[in-house]
Amino acid sequence: MIQYSEELKEEIRAANDIVDVISQYVTLKRKGRNYFGLCPFHNEKSPSFSVSADRQYFHCFGCHKGGDVFTFISEIERLSFKETYEFLAERGHINLPTLENDGFNKNQYLKDIMYKINIEATKFFHERLYQPLAKNAQNYVKKRKLDNKTLKAFKIGYSGEYNELYKHLKAQGFKDNDILATGLVIKSDEGKFIDRYRKRLMFPIMTVSRKSSCFWGKKIR
Ligand SMILES: [Zn+2]
Repeated sequence: MIQYSEELKEEIRAANDIVDVISQYVTLKRKGRNYFGLCPFHNEKSPSFSVSADRQYFHCFGCHKGGDVFTFISEIERLSFKETYEFLAERGHINLPTLENDGFNKNQYLKDIMYKINIEATKFFHERLYQPLAKNAQNYVKKRKLDNKTLKAFKIGYSGEYNELYKHLKAQGFKDNDILATGLVIKSDEGKFIDRYRKRLMFPIMTVSRKSSCFWGKKIR
């Protein structure tokens, strides 16, 4: 489902002057600042239908119908909300987003959510490294002489042992599909969600902008 933005609505509105649009249905005569004509929505002999160019609004003093250019077109052409947009966009030579050119937004969403999940996972792994359950990992970093400053600077961490990361991410409100898309969690043949990295020392791989984009996991025995 495509969502049309307020910005797009204003762009369509600007491309469809209400006096021009209504003139295609009603003969309008200018009187002072407003235009008058016979109302297309009820039967009348003297004009009580008015259009304001300044306010881009129409109003009938007889049947009390009124609104903007979107209301007018949807009423007179009997169109749905979406059809009215399409009708006026075409009239104003404006391209509406389609599912194809909406792809940019989807990519952006995916990038943002991947980034958020990676940040959350980095934090989760890093905090676990200091917990008693990470004893083997702690021994390993001691042996490799990685001091606390290094561990903190590179956000080195310890993974889950089965599905701890998955459960943590779910508790943070992330959706299964987004979690799976990071590759940090995999779905087993039985349909269970399992952490990809288990019992591993975790090294987030930083990009130039210091945003962790993936991980490298060293197996710890
Ligand atoms: Zn009327």
